[in-house]
Amino acid sequence: MNIERSTHLFVEAKRCLPGGVSSPVRAYNAVGGVPRFINEGRGAYIFDVDGRKYVDYVMAYGPLIFGHRHPAVTEAIEEALARGTGFGAPSESEIRLAGLIKEAFPFVDLVRFVNSGTEATMSAVRLARAQTGRDYVLKFEGCYHGHADTFLVRPGSGGSTSGIPSSPGIPKEVVRYTLVTPYNDIGAVERIFEQKGRKIAAIIVEPVAGNMGVVLPKKGFLQGLREASKSYGALLIFDEVITGFRVAFGGISTKIGVEPDILTLGKIIGGGLPVGALCGKRSVMELLAPQGPLYQAGTFSGNPLSMSAGMATLRTLKEENPYGALRRRTERLIEGLRDIFKAKGIPVVFNHETAVFSMFFTRGERVMNLSDAQSTDKKLYAELFHALLAEGVMLPPSPYEALFLSTAHGDTVIEETLKAFGKAVARSSLT
Ligand SMILES: *Cc1c(COP(=O)(O)O)cnc(C)c1O
Repeated sequence: MNIERSTHLFVEAKRCLPGGVSSPVRAYNAVGGVPRFINEGRGAYIFDVDGRKYVDYVMAYGPLIFGHRHPAVTEAIEEALARGTGFGAPSESEIRLAGLIKEAFPFVDLVRFVNSGTEATMSAVRLARAQTGRDYVLKFEGCYHGHADTFLVRPGSGGSTSGIPSSPGIPKEVVRYTLVTPYNDIGAVERIFEQKGRKIAAIIVEPVAGNMGVVLPKKGFLQGLREASKSYGALLIFDEVITGFRVAFGGISTKIGVEPDILTLGKIIGGGLPVGALCGKRSVMELLAPQGPLYQAGTFSGNPLSMSAGMATLRTLKEENPYGALRRRTERLIEGLRDIFKAKGIPVVFNHETAVFSMFFTRGERVMNLSDAQSTDKKLYAELFHALLAEGVMLPPSPYEALFLSTAHGDTVIEETLKAFGKAVARSSLT
């Protein structure tokens, strides 16, 4: 495979960027080889600098629910761009995007826009601590909430791959207040609350986990978190940075009817541009400056380009309601993949929710938490990853990253993907 130009750029990149990248998973450490430098995206496809075309299942790690360069989104950006790139002043687009979020999540009164999911969760925890006057935060193994100090204890994503429980550079005293327990184990949560319940400011959780691969909550798990937090006066934070507007016009919270106290969003609500948001009831959100004493600010927050791209995205989602079609295509893809792996005798577990899924190569029956996810065959994933690149399909370059579909992944794209998998699995030495 000719990857001359990517190879050359990667050498050059390493001279000016740590590891040659701006975010670790992009360096292909988990799968080996040279990362493809991407030149262009169109619909369900991306094109690398060596002129190769791939069906894209990375989708920028989640924001691109319509695929690359959907006309409604690019037109909204162009229209906003023609008026300026940012003013450091309020603009109407913030109100409109907040309005769409409120419509989708009826329990939300107020929205604070920030620039990334990381900022949203970081500020959400500050808000929970301010509201309760408590310090402890309970999170789950394998859940990723961005890269703020508080959360870098057994996160998913990059952290899982390299097996680093936390990162150097974080004072012990900071993560002393971070309690960590396995996902889907409500008994463990209840025991922690019995010991420390009155000191816990918040539980933060991905209501469907997407950063140790996709892991679904067991029946009653999220309801259990709601009850435990409520009875001890702790807040419940749902981190729906991935799931918000990917699983419904709304998120897991609206889908299953469990209301968190604080909701964090990102990814899709920026339509492909940088964004994050923390949302909640007026009584909690009013603590934020300038209305309240809790400091939180940002030069680029509510940036009109991001707001416009987000608005166009949410409006189109509302109009087109593509979730049934997305779910059917995800299920069709999984069904086809299941047959391909079965024919080759490769044991695999699929977890999916609407337009996001994972395949775990394991003999186990189910993948319900981080230790299940970590016991899967990473070497096989890496082999498959490269075999698929050769066949024109781009998977995420780590077994712990979810595969994302978009509305551009139509039936023909799904069939094209299955054909590529068929060839990749048949040709390679996978067993
Ligand atoms: C991506 C992600 C974040 C962090 O968002 P950034 O925009 O990358 O800072 C937080 N939480 C979840 C669940 C995510 O998937």
